[in-house]
Amino acid sequence: MRGDAVLLRRLNERRILNSIRLKGPISRSELQRELGLALPTVSRGVDRLVERGWIRSVGSGDSTGGRPPELVEVNPDGGFALGVDLGRDTVTTVITDLFAKPKYTSTLRLVDLGGPEGLAEYLGDFMETCGCPQDLLVGIGVAAPGPLDTQNGRLLQPEDMPEVWHGASIASLFEEQFSVPVYLENDANAAALGETWFGDRGDVRHALFVLADAGVGAGVVIDGSVYAGAHNMAGEFSHMTVNIDGEWCTCGRRGCVNSVASRHAIEWNVRRSREREENEPFEEIIRRAKGGMEPDVSVVQSAILYLSVGIANMAYTFDPDLVILGGSMLLVDKFVSDSVIHELQRLIRSSCTIVETRFGLQAVAIGGATLALQGIYDVKPLVAVDS
Ligand SMILES: [Zn+2]
Repeated sequence: MRGDAVLLRRLNERRILNSIRLKGPISRSELQRELGLALPTVSRGVDRLVERGWIRSVGSGDSTGGRPPELVEVNPDGGFALGVDLGRDTVTTVITDLFAKPKYTSTLRLVDLGGPEGLAEYLGDFMETCGCPQDLLVGIGVAAPGPLDTQNGRLLQPEDMPEVWHGASIASLFEEQFSVPVYLENDANAAALGETWFGDRGDVRHALFVLADAGVGAGVVIDGSVYAGAHNMAGEFSHMTVNIDGEWCTCGRRGCVNSVASRHAIEWNVRRSREREENEPFEEIIRRAKGGMEPDVSVVQSAILYLSVGIANMAYTFDPDLVILGGSMLLVDKFVSDSVIHELQRLIRSSCTIVETRFGLQAVAIGGATLALQGIYDVKPLVAVDS
């Protein structure tokens, strides 16, 4: 078969599979109407997808005169995706079904893996332990802190990560070992993608995912796909100025989101006010702030206000349908996420919805799995890569 005919067949198969995902159970003739393809094309595509195990027959629909039509739907366990949240301190891995629903999860410390080869070995062992045969693996998505070379699947020099990870060609290493497509994406972008595709929030095309952990970042989804920007930095609002008189930042300027509104900033300010040598557990600071105790309540309230100002500025720039809050700083207690939502409702004048992530602290790993699943459902990456 000629190259463009192969590409066309793959494009059609993805469109068929994605329609079945969104509209199933559905008949071949409904798919034909939905996609505007010829019936034989739809039938051949459906047959191939059944053969592959990604979809299954679920009996017959109502007859419109002739033989009742066969209905098909996505077979969730017909394949699985591997999502990896490669963090600065910990690595969370999820094995999901074809709807990005986690079936198995594990978290371990980054240092215990040694380096990229150690992670590859661990992923193989994890799949084996969970009884997930490698021939059902549809792809691997790795979500990591920037800066990244996503095009070539390579980490660059992620701040605060051991040197063994600097310049690691994650995608080619994993592709060689597992023989499936491997995707590498910024952590907040992956989380944004996961939530828009599988967060069950209807047809969300434009979204911002705010990932507030020790530092702060955001992922941007525009028209259903990650928007990376010219330097893969879109949404990186950690050095956006939100208080021109604020604390000095590591970047040499004052009042960046990271220096006045991150978990590190809260911990540092409380430590300074209480004249302590060491940081206290973040949960403890939040517990005292919730109880109205000083200086905790003032420090936390100030961080919440400046973080909300930063998020509101992003919302005015990108005009999303949905702003999703995630990361350990925001999810530590409802008090924090509710306070941010309250501030944002005051600051943002558009009708965008502001919610906490559905996926809790697994949002980034599920976003990783979504990158792999986008590879079987979405025509956009295929057009971009193959044309
Ligand atoms: Zn800065």
